[in-house]
Parts: sequence; structure tokens; C-alpha cells
Amino acid sequence: MATDYYELLGVPRDATAEDIKKAFRRVARETHPDANPDDPTAEARFKEVAEAYEVLKDPERRRRYDRGETFDIGDLFGAGGFGGFEDILRSVFGEGSVFGQGRQQGSARGRDVLARVNVTMEEACFGVEANVSFRTNVSCEICAGSGAKPGTDRITCPTCQGAGAVRVQRRGILGTMMTVATCDACSGTGEVVSDPCERCVGAGIVPSDREVSVEIPPGVDNGTRLRLSHEGEAAGRGGQPGDLFVEVRVEPDERFVRDGAELIHRTTIGIAEAALGTTLDIPLLDGKHHALEVPVGTQPGWATAIRGEGMSRLGRRGRGDLVVAIDVEVPSDLSREERELLKRFASLRGEKAGGKRRWL
Ligand SMILES: [Zn+2]
Ligand SMILES: [Zn+2]
Repeated sequence: MATDYYELLGVPRDATAEDIKKAFRRVARETHPDANPDDPTAEARFKEVAEAYEVLKDPERRRRYDRGETFDIGDLFGAGGFGGFEDILRSVFGEGSVFGQGRQQGSARGRDVLARVNVTMEEACFGVEANVSFRTNVSCEICAGSGAKPGTDRITCPTCQGAGAVRVQRRGILGTMMTVATCDACSGTGEVVSDPCERCVGAGIVPSDREVSVEIPPGVDNGTRLRLSHEGEAAGRGGQPGDLFVEVRVEPDERFVRDGAELIHRTTIGIAEAALGTTLDIPLLDGKHHALEVPVGTQPGWATAIRGEGMSRLGRRGRGDLVVAIDVEVPSDLSREERELLKRFASLRGEKAGGKRRWL
């Protein structure tokens, strides 16, 4: 930068930090583009002034500058380059004074909508096409969202003459200055309705119940949120609709407990089954069954995994395992005959079974 920073701010080389700050406010007010709407070089001049201030307000940078170092504007205003620069303008002059503000593309975006959907555990595993119902604003069908009575047209906004922005006097730390603000009359679109639609009173949107078909992907869990772009609230008057977020709730399934991609199925067998071994009929999520061999001498708490019969993994291939956990139940409701058989079993085993206390 060939221009002398001190000269730009109009301060001597031994100016104090306070002097520099005061000088910047004065010069910035004079050179700000909003104060010089007819001067095409105003923006460039203002950026020079802002650059000078960024360097001189920082004691370390000022020392380096005094030693003859130069500064890159990108370094000064951060990785955002001029984006960062505009943040500084915003912080100094407030919202609505950023360069280039003017007519906006369409009106405001519609709001995002959150809807909920319930699925079974089976649907959560294999995916399903679900219908989601919710209430939101939709585009008015009478005026096709324009807000204008059919047969009439939108006209150039008389407040801003179609610019979408108006100059307003604002009092701030720098004194009174002209800044640019979005036109309230047309919400920045530059157009207004001369004859409003009777159905939506010019808004272009009306409340309505909606039903959307949503593809629920395999592997969703409680609280999974799916985003459907532009399926939220309509904006009207040419604006973009918001997004629809669908939050999934997976209904509990009495056969399975889910642990991530794993499903756990608990079942109970008798002492004879545990001792002698058995074959169990295990339900699977897809409605089929698996014949599980329970080995001879199975102990309480024994568990085994059926590979690939657990939950799908959201966004990934394959499924987790189905873990079958087995409890062994000791009978407490023996008949006379069963009791006699167990006593005989105990005597063969050398166990001292049976007592005076009655069976429960
Ligand atoms: Zn309408
Ligand atoms: Zn306007």
C-alpha cells in the first residue's frame, strides 16, 4: 500500500491510540460510501481508511508498519477477506450499511417445520415409505402465491421505487449518517400488490394441513431427524419455502431390545431343557424364525449371537447381530409326581434335597 496510513487518517506519526480512534471515526464518516452515494470511488477510499485503522489501532502492527512492513488486506480482515472486512463495517456502522445491499431476490424464506412420525422396529430396520401429516402455511392457490388478486398485477413499490432498499438517517456513535435499510413496504422485493388477493389478504400464503410421503431409510433410531428441502412453510411472493424436518420415533417391540445395531432377545428355559439341551424357535425382525440349538448343560445367563439378524446401520451396509440371552427358570410349582422325581434325582446325585418347609 503506497498510501501513508497516517496521512489517510490525518494524524501525526506520534499520534496516540485515542487520537487514531477519533480520527478514524471522523474520516470513516466522511468517506463511507453511504455518505457518498454519487461517488463511485467511495468504496475503495473507505476500504483504504479501514485498512489504515486496522493496522494503526494495533500496537504490534503499528510498530511493524513504522519499520516499513506492508500488510495484505486478506491478513488484516481474516480468512474471509472482504467478507471479514464487511463484518468490520457491520460492527462499526451496524446492520443495513453493508455495501451492495439493495433489492433482494424474492421475499423472506419460509420457516422450517418439524413433524414427527412413528415407525415399528421392523420398519426402522428395513425402511418404509411413511406419510407425515402437519399443519403449515402453503402457497395460496387463488393467486398462486403472488398475493395479487387474479387479473391484477404486482406494481413497483412506491416507497423504494423498486430498489428494495431505502436510505435512512441513523444516529450512532459516529453521529448522524445515511445508511441503507430493507424497504418495509415491500420486504425488500421492490414490488407491492395494488389489489390484494381476497383469500390470503396479499400474503401469498394460507394455513393448511399437509401430508408428505417420506422415505424412511433403514437403520433410523429414536430421534433421528430427516431433512426434506423446501417441504416446509411456503414463503409467498416468490420466496423460497423452508425445510421440513421429520423426527422419527421407533415404537418399542416386546420381542427385542435395541442396542445400536444389535438386537437383544431374552428368553427363559426350564432346568430340564438347560440340562438336556433343546431347540428354540427364535422370532426374527423380518417375521421369519430361527431354530436355535441350546447346548446340553446350558447355564443361566448363557447368550449367543445370530449373525446379521440385528438392526440395519443408518447410511451403511449390513446389519448387526441378534443376541439371544437365556435365563434358566427353577420351577416353584411342582406337582406331587414331579416332586417325587426330583427327590429321586437328588438322591442319585447325592444332594440333600427336600425339608419340612412346604413348597411355595
Ligand atoms: Zn392469494
Ligand atoms: Zn419497497
